[in-house]
Amino acid sequence: LNQPVIIVHGGAKEIDPEKVEPSKAGCRRAADAGWAVLERGGSALDAIEAAVRALEEDGTFNAGYGATLNPDGVARLDAGMMDGATLNAGAVAAVETVRHPCTVARRVLEAPEVLIVGQHADRWARENVSQEQCSPGDLISPEQRSTWQEKQKAGAFGPGTHDTVGAVALDKNGHLAACASTGGTGDKYPGRVGDSPIAGSGFYADDGLGACALTGEGEGVLRLTLGRVVLDQVSSGRDPDGAILEALDQLQARTEARAGIILLTPDGRIGWGHNERDMAVAYRTTLMDGPAAFTNKMEEK
Ligand code: ASP
Repeated sequence: LNQPVIIVHGGAKEIDPEKVEPSKAGCRRAADAGWAVLERGGSALDAIEAAVRALEEDGTFNAGYGATLNPDGVARLDAGMMDGATLNAGAVAAVETVRHPCTVARRVLEAPEVLIVGQHADRWARENVSQEQCSPGDLISPEQRSTWQEKQKAGAFGPGTHDTVGAVALDKNGHLAACASTGGTGDKYPGRVGDSPIAGSGFYADDGLGACALTGEGEGVLRLTLGRVVLDQVSSGRDPDGAILEALDQLQARTEARAGIILLTPDGRIGWGHNERDMAVAYRTTLMDGPAAFTNKMEEK
């Protein structure tokens, strides 16, 4: 049995050459943060929260600080988290005033609700996780501000990139957990919500089936409930990478969408794959001295 194990990702898309190293470094840091929790016997939930907080803090990725701005110049964030032991899930969507949406999702997971949206989610966060509160401007990185300004000038909001982040872990007690966090697609209509905060689409965890986190064109992933589909395939005996390829083929055939998936099986086998050109991923198992990081599946030997 391969446990503990953690896998994280920083999005599936065309990664610019100058972003390759920062993306790998950011994923490695996140895997290290999660691993530190798992190694001392911490829970998979604590591990993925630590990992995704690191990714949300890193301005390289479209989540938390540095997230893509909507056409009106505001970053609206979605995040979801699930506990494979209890099937408890928690998520927030379209929040504008929290630094770490994954931590708010974690608190929702511990509450009776599963999903809270918009200004109400911002208020819920203020009341229940006040330390995460920030002003909308605190989420804007200089890079995203200038990208937005250029688009404004050109009057063109092109299709967004897919650099949502995610993490999946299996802890020493054999429990799985999964998390996704995103600024959503760059051209999204304010209030549009993709797959990332929706259990069964952007993430899922069940100790009996496996756990996964997705990134990509959220509408396609939502229409196929792809997170659940891919776990049903692994639990019916497909190898993890094969199940992912099959799920991505279905996604492309039925919706033309592109995506990337990371997953763990209940016995700690790793799967990841993408039909976007690149995907930033890092993982660590007990057999490794540190995390391995990649920006394309073809780099993995
Ligand atoms: N899946 C995200 C969404 O549709 C986008 C992404 O992966 O970057 O909101």
